Amino acid sequence: MVFQDPFASLNPRKTLESILEEPLFVHNIGKAKERREKVEELLATVGLNPAFRTRYPHEFSGGQRQRIGIARALSLSPDLIIADEPVSALDVSIQAQIINLMQDLQQELDLTYVFISHDLSVVRHISDRVAVMYLGKMMELSEKHDLYNDPLHPYTQALLSAVPIPRKPGTAKRERIILQGDLPSPSNPPEGCVFHTRCPQAMASCKSIIPEFKEVKSGHFVACHLYE
Ligand code: SF4
Repeated sequence: MVFQDPFASLNPRKTLESILEEPLFVHNIGKAKERREKVEELLATVGLNPAFRTRYPHEFSGGQRQRIGIARALSLSPDLIIADEPVSALDVSIQAQIINLMQDLQQELDLTYVFISHDLSVVRHISDRVAVMYLGKMMELSEKHDLYNDPLHPYTQALLSAVPIPRKPGTAKRERIILQGDLPSPSNPPEGCVFHTRCPQAMASCKSIIPEFKEVKSGHFVACHLYE
């Protein structure tokens, strides 16, 4: 797991060595010397000087701290990393560095990421497949290009209409879909389709019948009565 806030997800009382060797320690992997070597290797892997292992988190910038968080996630050589908004707390220029690092590591270590984000541009850049969620339910799932070029679910259509894109001179202005109403409480979601209270295309059946999540094109899944 890589967490959102690199300032809150590292124990300020522990050195990098202690933070990075803890997963190895918990899983009883290696002797002290091997764990130290692994810590140095992890720091080098994420672009930090191995000599930093004796330092504390407060001595690093936000981007460097997120590198430490990534190193910790790599310590047990996982196949899958869940990254929960890993760049949203960082400056835009630093975001690019961390995204590039994650992409390089993905290639080198053959990793799979579940990359959670509200930033649709970042999602488009890093993803192969994209799942769109609303109130904890999956609304749409598709290969990236298919989802961005041909969004099927009304919620996805509204989300993508809000992404600013440069307009060529002489071309028509893109229609922006503004959703009405407030987001319902996730602890008390609406019955039927959870999106029906804000959906511009809602029908009577949407209020009571939960739409099935089904494949409507090859590899493109959607939960909406419009496609039944
Ligand atoms: S099921 Fe109905 S309310 Fe839900 S997204 Fe489709 S049209 Fe809108």
